[in-house]
This record gives sequence, structure tokens and C-alpha cells, in this order.
Amino acid sequence: MALIVQKFGGSSLGTLDRIQHVASKVMATRAQGHDVVVVVSAMFGETDRLIRLANAITHLPDPREYDVLISTGEQVSMSLLSIALNAKNCDARSFTGPQIGIQTDDVHTKARIQEVKTDVLQRELKQGRVVIVAGFQGVNEAGEVTTLGRGGSDTTAVAIAIALKADECQIYTDVDGVYTTDPHLLSDAMMIPHISFEEMLEMASMGAKVLQMRSVELASRHNMPIRVLSTFIDGPGTLVTFEEKIMQRRLVTGIAFSREEAIISLSGISRRIGLEGLILDRISQEAVEIDMIAQNATAQDTVDFTFTVPRREYAKAIKIIEGLNKDLGSFAIKTNDKVAKVSLVGVGMKSHAGVASTMFKALGETGIGIQMVTTSEIKISVIVDETLVEQAVKAVHQAFELHKIPSPKQEQLVE
Ligand code: ASP
Ligand code: MG
Repeated sequence: MALIVQKFGGSSLGTLDRIQHVASKVMATRAQGHDVVVVVSAMFGETDRLIRLANAITHLPDPREYDVLISTGEQVSMSLLSIALNAKNCDARSFTGPQIGIQTDDVHTKARIQEVKTDVLQRELKQGRVVIVAGFQGVNEAGEVTTLGRGGSDTTAVAIAIALKADECQIYTDVDGVYTTDPHLLSDAMMIPHISFEEMLEMASMGAKVLQMRSVELASRHNMPIRVLSTFIDGPGTLVTFEEKIMQRRLVTGIAFSREEAIISLSGISRRIGLEGLILDRISQEAVEIDMIAQNATAQDTVDFTFTVPRREYAKAIKIIEGLNKDLGSFAIKTNDKVAKVSLVGVGMKSHAGVASTMFKALGETGIGIQMVTTSEIKISVIVDETLVEQAVKAVHQAFELHKIPSPKQEQLVE
């Protein structure tokens, strides 16, 4: 007998029919002899509706009241699910985050969980009940309701799984797993059966639609396996675990991309110690996030410095850079705010050379120019023209045969 935490998202709880369906899925797990804690999101669209109500009164609602308001969506779905289970003769009880004792810090609207009390959970499980917990909410030291940021029910589920030392944390959603790339962009995309925490975090642009990234970080820190599954289609889903547990590994796992990037290049800055720190310091003082950075010294004793920022912060970044002229002397600025980032992700590349060359060759043969490159142990990112994203993803997906089920030969590649 295992202890399983199952989290159901808003689309899985969108209607009473769907809530009934979730109830029968929970009962099927119970029937296999497992203990189950269920974490629920609000019914589909409900949190957005509540936010609109508050914003219709004022654009700056008091954060305390705002959290009281937006935490109610989960209370509706938790009790409806419990009513549905009880009506099917399955003993269940629902609890809010504060009732369970999900203790958070004070940061209203994006609080962090500090501790999950287990006494109520244990007591209810011991009684043989299904315990249903409202996701996305907790209570601070002063006893005020807090919420955990959009998508926060995933984090509630992982935190409860860790506190109870559950065997697995299952996240039920409306897709059947995590894909090698966005299946809306590329119909060849394949479901990934097994992915490491590290890769999942790097696949953020893909994965964030499925899991709140904070929940992956938390699971990774405590080694809690997460399984992403569909509520509507039966299947094994995608298991997110530590790398060592992944038996059939590929050289690369997936391709993430983001379209909303801008690149800024400063050239001909006269060389001096501390220059890079000065540039980055100014930019980060204005809370502009910098992503990729490349710097190189030229033969003329000057430095070229190139970086990318999210497109929405482009105008702000340019203004800061123009202000740097005073400190750095004259330099040329070249920019392009119509670029995208394509990232190849895979723990398999740690121990294998030639991944970058295969990727660059595939892009080159497709006639795609690379404007910037950065690499880490498990990721190679390139900046390309925004209009070429689809072609770039397609070419790289094809080059690494991500559309095929891994063959034994490919598995051997990464021993
Ligand atoms: N209901 C909340 C939201 O819409 C939390 C969640 O769904 O995880 O963001
Ligand atoms: Mg979600």
C-alpha cells in the first residue's frame, strides 16, 4: 500500500461532470489499496473571475483582502469533490490550507510555504478517509490567509507529499505529459516518459505551462518524484525524478523556446577592469532581468558586450544603456527586439561531445543564422530571428530524432 498525493487542476474540475469523473479516479486509486490525499485547484476560470471582481473595484486591492478573496475558488472545488465522493459512499473530508496548517511567510499573493503540519492529515488518513486539501493557500504566523502565486496548487501538492513522505506526487492536468517540444508548434513532438528535475527546470518555457516551477524546485530539493498525467486519457504520463533513476536516457531530451526576447549589443567599449560588473549592476538596479551574456575583448583593446532581455523590458534596458555613455565613453549600440531563443536540453550532453555541432549544422543547413550562443552542462541556447523559430525547432528536433521512440542504439550512446 502506497501513499499518493493527487493534484487536480482547474480544467479537470471545470464542471460538475468533471468533478464526478475526478471522484471516480480517486476511488479507483483507493480501490487499489492506496491512501490518497487530493489537492485541488479552483474550478476552471474561477481564480481569474475573482481577480476581475477585485480589479473592477480598484486596481490596488489590499493584499490581505485579495488573498482572502482569491483563496475561495479552491474551497468551492474541495467541498464539491468531497460531496461527490461521499455521495459515492467514499469517506472523504475537505480542508482549507489554514485548517491543515500549511504555514507560510507573510508575502501576500506569492507566499512561500515554510512548514506543512501533518497531524490533521495523519489523523484523517488513519480514519481511512480521503483527505482533500485546497491548493494555493496557507496561513501566516499572524493567522492570515495567504496565497502562493498563480499555479500554486502544484506547490501545495508537492509540499504535502514531502511532509507525509508520500510515494509519489501525481499532477493531473489536461495534457498527457511533458513533450519534447510544444506539440502545438510541432505535431511530431513526443511525450517524454521520464525527465530529470534539472531538465524540467530548463524546459521551463514548455514545462511551466504544466507545472509551477516552484513545485519542481521543491520536489528536486527533497527528491519527491512528480508524475504529470492526464485526467481524461489513461496513460503512464511523464515521471519527473532525479537523473540517476532514468534508465533509458537520450542524448537530448527536448527543445524549449521563447519568442519574446530582445538582444542588445554594445561594441567598442574601452577595456578596463570591472566594466562588466558596472554594466550589469546598472541594469539590474532597474530590475531588468538579463538572460544570456557574451563578452569578448577585441584586438583594438576594446570590449564587445552582448546580452538578451525579455522583450517587454527592452525599452527600459536601452534607456539605461544610453545613460552609461557618461561612464564608459563612446560605444556603438546594436539591437534587435525581434529575436527568439531556442534551447536544446538534455542531461545526456554532459558526457558527450558533438551535440552543439549537430545542432549548429542542422540550423545552418536550414539557412538559419545564429545571433548568439550560450551553453551550460545540460543546455545549448541560441538566439535566432523571431520568424525562424518554427523552422529552427523543427530542424533540431529532426536532427536529434526526437520524433522517434529511442532505439537501443541511442540509449547506449548515453550509457
Ligand atoms: N487557482 C490558482 C490559479 O489559478 C492556483 C492553481 O490553479 O494552481 O492560479
Ligand atoms: Mg497549473
